Amino acid sequence: MIKRLRFAVGLLSLLGITTLTHAQKDRFQQKVKYEMDVKMDVVKNQYTGTQKLHYTNNSPDTLDRAFYHLYYNAFQPNSMMDVRSRTIADPDRRVRDRIQSLSPEEYGILEVKSLKMNGKTVDFDHEETILEVNLAEPILPGETVVFDMEFFGQVPLQVRRAGRDNAEGIRYSMSQWYPKMAAYDVRGWHANPYIGREFYGNFGDFDVKITIDKDYLLGGTGYLENANQIGKGYEDAGVKVPATKSKELTWHFTAPNVHDFMWAADPKYTLVKEQMENGPMVHLLYVKDEKTEENWGKLMQYTIDAIKYCSENFGKYPYDQYSVIQGGDGGMEYPMATLITGHRNLRSLVGVTVHELIHSWYYGVLGFNESSEPWLDEGFTTWGTSVVMDAVFEKDPNFVHNGSYRSYFRLAGAGYEEPLTTHGDHYNLNSAYGPGTYNKGAVFVEQMAYVVGKENFDKALLKLWNDFQFKHPNGNDVIRTFEKVSGLELDWYYDYFIASTKQIDYGVKSVEAAGKDTKIILERKGMMPMPLDVVVTYQDGSQELIYLPLVIQRGEKPEESGMPKRVLTQKWPWTDYTTEVKLARPISEIKSVEIDPSMRLADVDRENNKIEVSVEMEKK
Ligand SMILES: [Zn+2]
Repeated sequence: MIKRLRFAVGLLSLLGITTLTHAQKDRFQQKVKYEMDVKMDVVKNQYTGTQKLHYTNNSPDTLDRAFYHLYYNAFQPNSMMDVRSRTIADPDRRVRDRIQSLSPEEYGILEVKSLKMNGKTVDFDHEETILEVNLAEPILPGETVVFDMEFFGQVPLQVRRAGRDNAEGIRYSMSQWYPKMAAYDVRGWHANPYIGREFYGNFGDFDVKITIDKDYLLGGTGYLENANQIGKGYEDAGVKVPATKSKELTWHFTAPNVHDFMWAADPKYTLVKEQMENGPMVHLLYVKDEKTEENWGKLMQYTIDAIKYCSENFGKYPYDQYSVIQGGDGGMEYPMATLITGHRNLRSLVGVTVHELIHSWYYGVLGFNESSEPWLDEGFTTWGTSVVMDAVFEKDPNFVHNGSYRSYFRLAGAGYEEPLTTHGDHYNLNSAYGPGTYNKGAVFVEQMAYVVGKENFDKALLKLWNDFQFKHPNGNDVIRTFEKVSGLELDWYYDYFIASTKQIDYGVKSVEAAGKDTKIILERKGMMPMPLDVVVTYQDGSQELIYLPLVIQRGEKPEESGMPKRVLTQKWPWTDYTTEVKLARPISEIKSVEIDPSMRLADVDRENNKIEVSVEMEKK
């Protein structure tokens, strides 16, 4: 009996190991669990904290080093962020040379005072915004270790995203504020210095206690666990909050399954909350005055409508809370919350809120890497912003992605476009990063609907959500998801549109009579091949569609609703620069021939996309 049992256990564990190894080959994720206790001095703008980090190495690798981000050290003269901001040809106007002129009391500081792993002291070096840790003992595959740390911070005068006393007078915008373990994934450590661009971290749980002057109202990532002791509007209905005699309050937050933790604090914040039906509790935190009162008063309903729309179309929002908080320097996304500046007209306030909110789906829950693949996060989010603003704010009478396409066309014509595979920090120019990651990224998404068909696109968007929540999908995962739903091969689309700056330019070269039929010559003038929808409009106003899929896509998109009936499908090998289509209709019946009137094809020169059939052509 014992022997048989042992055999069974042995077999099971053998099977277990095989399964595990196989799973790890494709994908693994490190797991973090932070417990932090922080004390904030609101006079000196300094804080001290302890951090216990439970770190699980799910990788197949043995780790003998580790790296923490110390973002606030970027806000000191001559830091990499300072040098970069002063020397780039087109500086970010929020940063420029402002770090250079910070005084020591205005610096950002984040210092690790002590660090132990499993109770034993480890060696570490401060390398500006990165703490390099040499582990006394390696972390083995599958092992969980505990790091214990003491740290000290000084909140920088707000220059970029985080900081104190922002342009609208908000005291604390506390993002990037704690020593954060760098992400480790299939590409190894991501210990990139903070020089301006965005974030990537492993998913985990946070338990954060913040002790601060009792007059401050806090909000951010995470649920307030002691709402009925804190009060300030957080308490449950009917609860009488005990008056505090001490000068400070300790706020206790928890956040499950997030990859960062932000908080904000101001003594003048107003908290407005509303519980959505079948959705999260929505918080607005802002300083009520003549610059905010009217528009923030209308913001709650728009936020609720947007969350509802996104949950129905992009995947259900998985947390029980979302907070829109006045702070920061524009708009920046964080798990379960956003920091946005508040002195805005209604369209701008709603637009920024919607944009940052949609990041919760792509940066927040899917966990796109904003640092090395910023186009994924900003592209999907910018695309979503246009769609959601059209649905909840104001119906756009035109093609809703017009702005994104126009911005991309300007970039394509400017001569300094860079491939979207560029790491966010390493673009030569800010003006290549912005229009590229946001707008060309959005064009990638909308044009994907053109390539695979709208129905497949909608399905794939939800499949992406269902397959990759909390899993950090990359560009290849996105492409594979659209391939699986559509049955098409799409690697060429990524290779040309994301990994290169080759452009799309097709033209209708000629429309000629060919006996009783009509001969249409199409030409490819750009370097990037694409499938074509060609719409023929007849003299009687009716329309038909000619579809020219690429040979290399190995299939066809289904007919799309709202498009003219497809009467002809003809494959186009990308090696041919022209192709001839024979339409079994006399030229006298044809009014015009046009490539993609839906405007979804990012054709950089649309002047040559349409031919109106004239009497001369009919005679020819
Ligand atoms: Zn964004």
